[in-house]
Amino acid sequence: MSLYIKTNRIFNPVRQYSWLFTLLVGLGGLWYPRLGLLVLPVMVSLTTLAMFKGRYWCGNICSHGSFFDVLLMPFSRNGQIPKLLKSPVLAWLFFAFFGWNIGTKIGRVAGLWGTMEFWDRLGFIFVSSYLMVMIVGGGLALAFSPRTWCSFCPMGTLQVLSYRLGKLLRLNGATDAKVTVANQDMCHTCGKCSRVCPLQLTPYLAFSDNNQFEADVCIRCSTCVLNCPAGILSLNPQDEAIQIKEGTSSEGYEHRVEIAATLADTRDLAPDVREFTFKLQEPRIIQYTPGQFILVKIQDEPKMYRAYSISHYNKEKGELRIAVKRMPSGYGTGILFNNFRKGMSVTLEGPMGHELVVDKTAANVLLVAGGIGVTPFLPIVEDIVANAPHVQEVTLIYGVNQRSEFLYDDEFQRLQAKYSQFRFIKVVASDETWQGPKGFVTDVMKDMDLSSSTIYMCGPKPMTNAAQGLLAQKGVQETKVFLESA
Ligand SMILES: Cc1cc2nc3c(=O)[nH]c(=O)nc-3n(C[C@H](O)[C@H](O)[C@H](O)COP(=O)(O)OP(=O)(O)OC[C@H]3O[C@@H](n4cnc5c(N)ncnc54)[C@H](O)[C@@H]3O)c2cc1C
Ligand code: SF4
Ligand code: SF4
Repeated sequence: MSLYIKTNRIFNPVRQYSWLFTLLVGLGGLWYPRLGLLVLPVMVSLTTLAMFKGRYWCGNICSHGSFFDVLLMPFSRNGQIPKLLKSPVLAWLFFAFFGWNIGTKIGRVAGLWGTMEFWDRLGFIFVSSYLMVMIVGGGLALAFSPRTWCSFCPMGTLQVLSYRLGKLLRLNGATDAKVTVANQDMCHTCGKCSRVCPLQLTPYLAFSDNNQFEADVCIRCSTCVLNCPAGILSLNPQDEAIQIKEGTSSEGYEHRVEIAATLADTRDLAPDVREFTFKLQEPRIIQYTPGQFILVKIQDEPKMYRAYSISHYNKEKGELRIAVKRMPSGYGTGILFNNFRKGMSVTLEGPMGHELVVDKTAANVLLVAGGIGVTPFLPIVEDIVANAPHVQEVTLIYGVNQRSEFLYDDEFQRLQAKYSQFRFIKVVASDETWQGPKGFVTDVMKDMDLSSSTIYMCGPKPMTNAAQGLLAQKGVQETKVFLESA
């Protein structure tokens, strides 16, 4: 179970193909050394750009970075970068050594100035350095993590130096787009930003008061931004970060607290789904609204939680339940299924979230669930039938692949039998023995009149994407659609 996740880092054609330049110089230069002279404009460009945008070059243009990410990542062990190689001391020492080495080599060929040989010998200095990066950086990429080299690359350190100078001269206030979190209370502390980060940085543990990640080694690659499950990250200069901070509402997160609990019980709901029942110790009572989720701490170092929808909360007993689906090679679910034992102490954080908090003034409510995404809807339906007299009809469409995957079926059937305003529709994608509706949730939704419905969806991304597409086609206003991906 690796902590670090191999994920796409190629977001544009430059990142996709700039590795060709490394091969051209590093290998082509063995036959035609003057190709190495192409490195000179590269060095000037990256140093100038860094003054305004930090290590943006490394994350978005660098041909070595592209070589590591595109060609070597598929074969990398993708393990932890050794602490020593991430040490700033090593980076500065290596920078000094590299500078001295290149400087003395240039000094040696300077005597040939004015001859044809000068350009060949000068070019070859850079060809050999590109070849060295390919061999050493490539070896480290395979043995540890694709971008291990970038932790101490002298060109990266040169950019840090130029960036600091730009800061000193106040040149980069408007151009320096740093990782920005919209609201720190909304962070799930899941660590995914760190698990996908090419340099294995930990932005989620180091946001400043301005909600920015200030590390000048960050290569501004956007990988964390595009992978954050809470969708709260962006790359922005400081002024915009302040505007985002001031303009982001904390609604649904204002009652987030740390909770000391014990694991009172576990129950297997399906071969790969386990229900965990927690007894809250301190505080014993939480300000929970149906539809919200809770964070479960899975480890201390580095601090990491996982988000789970609350499937049941009993205020009197101080009891809270979640249902967890084990993911193939999932890091957090591996810990929850293997290490969480009845009676152990557990740290929770929450409750939080507002996407699935139902508007009880709506005339009709449609709930759309896929797989494990059904869990928040059990307390939601219980709450609507008991406490929302304005809601005339609440319908749950629940889609799974195989009929054996339905969760909380008895509970939903009981609610349907007892409350005439609740309709429960089950749909199965691929099970010949299933007599009910077949296909996807969208096959049921397409024939429904949704003009007066407020819609809440929870499930895998492909399901929520398809349902959103259908709702747009049917002309349902976006303001009446709310979703959470599970
Ligand atoms: C608001 C919210 C509510 C949620 N509610 C629930 C809920 O009620 N129940 C529930 O079960 N889940 C829920 N989730 C999902 C949950 O938070 C976790 O994301 C889920 O349990 C998986 O965690 P993990 O650490 O095991 O998976 P991860 O390790 O993060 O893996 C996620 C995926 O990436 C893949 N992966 C892992 N490692 C690698 C690698 N090295 N290379 C390539 N791919 C890899 C895995 O196969 C898996 O498919 C919710 C999420 C959110 C945001
Ligand atoms: S913190 Fe984000 S933007 Fe910075 S290097 Fe890591 S993944 Fe890229
Ligand atoms: S990826 Fe997780 S830890 Fe990082 S900012 Fe997003 S929610 Fe927070």
